[in-house]
Order: sequence, then C-alpha cells, then structure tokens
Amino acid sequence: MNNFFHIAIDGPVAAGKGTVSRIIAERLNFLYIDTGAMYRVAALLTIKNNLKFDNEDALVALLEKSEIKMNNPVGLEKDGRLTTVIVNDKDVSWKIRTEEVGRGASIVGQISEVRKILVKKQQEIAQSKNVVMEGRDITYKVLPDANLKIYLTGKDFVRANRRHMQLQSRGVDISFNQVYVDLVSRDKIDMERTTDPLKIVDDAWVIDTSDLSIEQVVNLIVFKVNVMQEALSAN
Ligand code: C5P
Repeated sequence: MNNFFHIAIDGPVAAGKGTVSRIIAERLNFLYIDTGAMYRVAALLTIKNNLKFDNEDALVALLEKSEIKMNNPVGLEKDGRLTTVIVNDKDVSWKIRTEEVGRGASIVGQISEVRKILVKKQQEIAQSKNVVMEGRDITYKVLPDANLKIYLTGKDFVRANRRHMQLQSRGVDISFNQVYVDLVSRDKIDMERTTDPLKIVDDAWVIDTSDLSIEQVVNLIVFKVNVMQEALSAN
C-alpha cells in the first residue's frame, strides 16, 4: 500500500455509487473515478462503429487506440453530469448515459480482454492520488489494497425507482417496468459473468441505501474516512 488514500466502492445498478462518490470526492478533495463510464465508452464505440457486440477483436483494437479522458466538470460542463468523459477529443459525457449504452456496457464488460485494458487504465489513473473509485470490481481487482472498501446496495424496487426518476428528469420517455426489467437483467449479467463479477468481498463495509438519503450515506463514509486518516497520521 502507498501513502495515498484509496476508497473503493462496488455495487449494483443505481445504488447511488456515482452521486455519493462525487460528493465524497468534493468534500475530501479526492479524485472521483467512474469506471462504469469506461465500459459505457466501450459500448458507445461498438454502436457508433456498427460493430457486433461479439466482435471482440475489433472492439479491443478500437479501444486500444482510443484516448479516454475523464475529469471533474468545469465551467459550462457543470450541467448535472457527474463526470466529463472525452473520447478522442469528443465530449461523450451525455451520449454514454442512455439505457441502450448501459445495456451494451454490461455486454462488453463480459469480454475479458476489454476488462484487462480498462482495469490497467483505471489503476494508472489511481496511482499517486487520493481517489474514490466506483464500479463492480474495484474492491478486489482494480484496487485490492484500498484503505476503505464499500459495497453500496439497495432494494431492487428502490433502485429502479431512482433510476426511473433520473431518466424522467432528463426527459427520457421510459416506463418504470422497462427500467426495472433492465436493472434486474444488468445486475444478473454483472454478478454471473466469469471474469471479475460483481461480488461482496469479506472486508467490505456493506451499506444498504434503501432508507437513507444521499446526505446520510455521504456523512457516514466521510466520518469513517476522517477517523481512519487521523489514525493513520497518528501512527
Ligand atoms: O456503473 P454503470 O451503470 O455506469 O456501469 C455500466 C456497466 O458497466 C455495468 O452494468 C457493468 O456491466 C459495467 N461495469 C463493469 N465493471 C466496472 C464498472 C462497470 O463491468 N468496474
């Protein structure tokens, strides 16, 4: 382990990982890294280049030559997005947020070569920085030595409701049932895939957000990090 503080957060769809991580990062002045955005980029590249989702070689080649940059939103980018995602100099921050791209991300996330490339990029970004990184395999694959490991979850119905409201607030016309079915199916793919499935590691702090506000979840985590950092600096 290095001198930097790493918070690793895993969890199923719409457990609140993104919103919570973004606020924690701001409060602690850490870098926020949304790894789901990278799998979404891989799905977007597949769709935009008219590739079949099972054309692994073409996707891997495309991904290898693509430059993915992620940063905290600044200036006009502060339009409700959690992170700015630039692929080959194009801002795709909103393009990757559709349900179609989300479903695609779960499919390309099953390809082990894609995971290898993205995990390496994620580890490089986290090097020599205090980070809060969220995804599905962060606690055991990307940052296995993280200081704090969290599994953020919530009841299916509550999570689907949150995602539905989020989509509606963006003007997306989709039924609750469709969102619910998509969510359950994506979680199933993420938990059952052979390479790096979503799972709860033994040393993870499991937080069920069903009955908690974002503020409450953030406060719980920030408090714990402050206590841990004080203990570390006293040593
Ligand atoms: O977190 P988000 O819903 O944006 O992630 C989109 C999809 O990307 C997930 O459903 C999952 O299939 C995949 N993913 C992954 N590993 C990660 C992050 C996301 O497989 N570390």
